[in-house]
Amino acid sequence: MGKASVGWPVTSRLGSLPQQQSGKDRGPDVDYVEHVTDLVGNTPLVRLNAVATGKARVLAKVEYLNPGGSVKDRIAQRMIEAAEESGELRPGGTIVEPTSGNTGVGLAMVAQRKGYRCVFVCPDKVSEDKRNVLKAYGAEVVVCPTAVEPEHPDSYYSVSDRLVQEIEGAWKPNQYANPANPESHVHSTGPEIWAQTEGKVTHFVAGIGTGGTISGTGEYLKKVSDGRVKVIGADPEGSVYSGGNGRPYLVEGVGEDFWPSTYDRGICDQIVAVSDAASFEMTRRLAREEALLVGGSCGMAVAAALEIAETADPDDVIVVLLPDGGRGYLTKVFNDSWMASYGFLSPDHAGGSVGDVL
Ligand code: PMP
Repeated sequence: MGKASVGWPVTSRLGSLPQQQSGKDRGPDVDYVEHVTDLVGNTPLVRLNAVATGKARVLAKVEYLNPGGSVKDRIAQRMIEAAEESGELRPGGTIVEPTSGNTGVGLAMVAQRKGYRCVFVCPDKVSEDKRNVLKAYGAEVVVCPTAVEPEHPDSYYSVSDRLVQEIEGAWKPNQYANPANPESHVHSTGPEIWAQTEGKVTHFVAGIGTGGTISGTGEYLKKVSDGRVKVIGADPEGSVYSGGNGRPYLVEGVGEDFWPSTYDRGICDQIVAVSDAASFEMTRRLAREEALLVGGSCGMAVAAALEIAETADPDDVIVVLLPDGGRGYLTKVFNDSWMASYGFLSPDHAGGSVGDVL
């Protein structure tokens, strides 16, 4: 069984370890998991209180509680398992992916368990801290210049393609085109939300990056509810999903300037475009008013969820997915100078942030 990756049955993450992991042959009543990646999935729902003033309940699915700190642990596990099954990834193989963040962490963790080598390619604009996280998990990081066209031989797309050709046994997960990405959510995130709300969920709100989260979770929830659950995409203003032309925005991990195949264009009943300013303001409020230190795409998704909540019925149960934690954004969203440099900081919300001393 895929254990926690399948996310079923849904019980408390503590004290509910699958039996085969703490069997009798291993001694009396010792609770443990074989590897930290057994703890992927089964994240809790936390009610939003201070920021959600409407009558409907708004419940946050807190994905930073995954062991790698983000929702991407789920896809990493399933993409690797699917590639093993298809024979694309063989023992001793190398995982090559252009990623600098959450997906890299998830892949590195699963690779560590299974003995694969990881080579991640990222542009030089990615902070040293982020690169060091990947290295800390044992991955190799190849840094490429940001200021070149994607077609340039030194671009991080070109370099990762070349590495896949050059390294024997290399496999590229390609999260933007890998069906195991949305499938991981059909098999874990969707069933978890349905079970946790005992089928009472009425709305599911999530940001769209690769589209894997919203497409897979949405597919499951629509199917199991006979189409009753409404799926709402949250998107940065300027991104193609909400009708933009790909103009730049600052929220990370969501929005695109192209249409990835992992996004099901028929899944969303509604798409809410959210400005950077509104996303970041809500991100800061989540930390200060809900004690949820989360990333900017979480503030964006919550801003969209609250817009839905305004016209929702009191019995509605709105689930909003929060993809990652806020520690990776301390020098940005949670830094007053950074916020002020983009004109985001309103005087009301200036206090209580990390400030300049970092
Ligand atoms: N937020 C963050 C921080 C992410 O890294 C991602 C993944 N790109 C998303 C949201 C969107 O998730 P998905 O790719 O499943 O659409």
